Amino acid sequence: MAGSRYAYVRNFELPDPLLPETFMVLRLDGHSFHRFSDEHQFTKPNDTRALALMDHAAKDLMEQYPDIVLAFGESDEFSFLLRKSASLYNRRASKIISTLTSLFTSSYVFRWASYFPDTPLKYPPAFDGRLVLYPSAREIRDYFSWRQTDSSSLQPITAEIAHCGASPHQQLVQHNVLGLGATRRGKHNPGARHTQGAYVVRPIGKQTRLALVQGTVSKEKHEILFARFQVNYNHLDARCRKGSTLVRQQIEDGEKLTSMSGPDTESAPRLRGRTKPRAQIVVLHCDLIKDEFWDARPEILS
Ligand code: ATP
Ligand code: ATP
Ligand code: MG
Ligand code: MG
Ligand code: MG
Ligand code: MG
Repeated sequence: MAGSRYAYVRNFELPDPLLPETFMVLRLDGHSFHRFSDEHQFTKPNDTRALALMDHAAKDLMEQYPDIVLAFGESDEFSFLLRKSASLYNRRASKIISTLTSLFTSSYVFRWASYFPDTPLKYPPAFDGRLVLYPSAREIRDYFSWRQTDSSSLQPITAEIAHCGASPHQQLVQHNVLGLGATRRGKHNPGARHTQGAYVVRPIGKQTRLALVQGTVSKEKHEILFARFQVNYNHLDARCRKGSTLVRQQIEDGEKLTSMSGPDTESAPRLRGRTKPRAQIVVLHCDLIKDEFWDARPEILS
């Protein structure tokens, strides 16, 4: 009904083009996943089934959108880098954000049962999406360093402790957190009562707890990780320490890559009969802060 007297309302739909020749980064984040992870009994602080499911949804997105040259995920979030020259959907912002976020979400739900065979979904999860433009390789490097620094398994711990309420078990956590801070400043804080140098037996508020955790250096966070979850940071899976990085990698015919750690690895059969090298999406748990990763893959920032 293009010619109808109602069609003028179309003029209210304004174009939202993204600046050409700039890097696009789309970041998705699970909506209220603190609750979602509780309701679906994720193991804390890092449920590896949930992380592998996120990786698989990210891989699905990269398979549908060749403009995505790199993805990085941790916890309930994933960032996708689109090449500067990407012209998908004529670089219309809302079309890109909504379609990619929607595909990621539906893929997460579609593959849920493969990763959580004994845990039916109680309700449909949602992800939010935002897209930011960056002018140069420098900001892209810094962006991914920022996200990786935020993860490294310390972010989930920070979040867990910040969220904790006042159950007896959580009280112990509070004591541990404060105890570590107080031990460090013991001499300057003679008023603090503590036993065995590690526990402070007085309640603290959420803000104090947050400030303490955020101000705590890595070594102390590792101690919290051990006290709270009996997990030794140095023994943690690389996945939990480094997050997941997905890249396209050239592989030779027949080469078997065990890239998806999930139960559903579809890549191998499709390689049969091919003689040319082709790109395969692989999942790495590597450092994105140092130069090595980027030096080996100059095409990502080209
Ligand atoms: P928002 O809607 O603002 O994003 P949120 O509850 O999702 O709220 P986030 O800061 O995104 O808050 O944190 C995600 C939370 O989801 C984590 O703090 C953690 O509790 C939980 N979570 C996500 N992934 C995992 C996982 N793989 N294993 C265990 N817990 C997880
Ligand atoms: P775009 O991604 O641009 O939206 P599109 O293929 O979805 O492309 P639309 O203009 O949204 O194009 O049209 C949706 C099309 O989907 C319809 O033209 C029709 O072919 C099909 N379709 C959608 N819903 C139904 C339905 N209930 N029954 C039959 N066909 C449907
Ligand atoms: Mg958020
Ligand atoms: Mg979230
Ligand atoms: Mg998050
Ligand atoms: Mg349509």
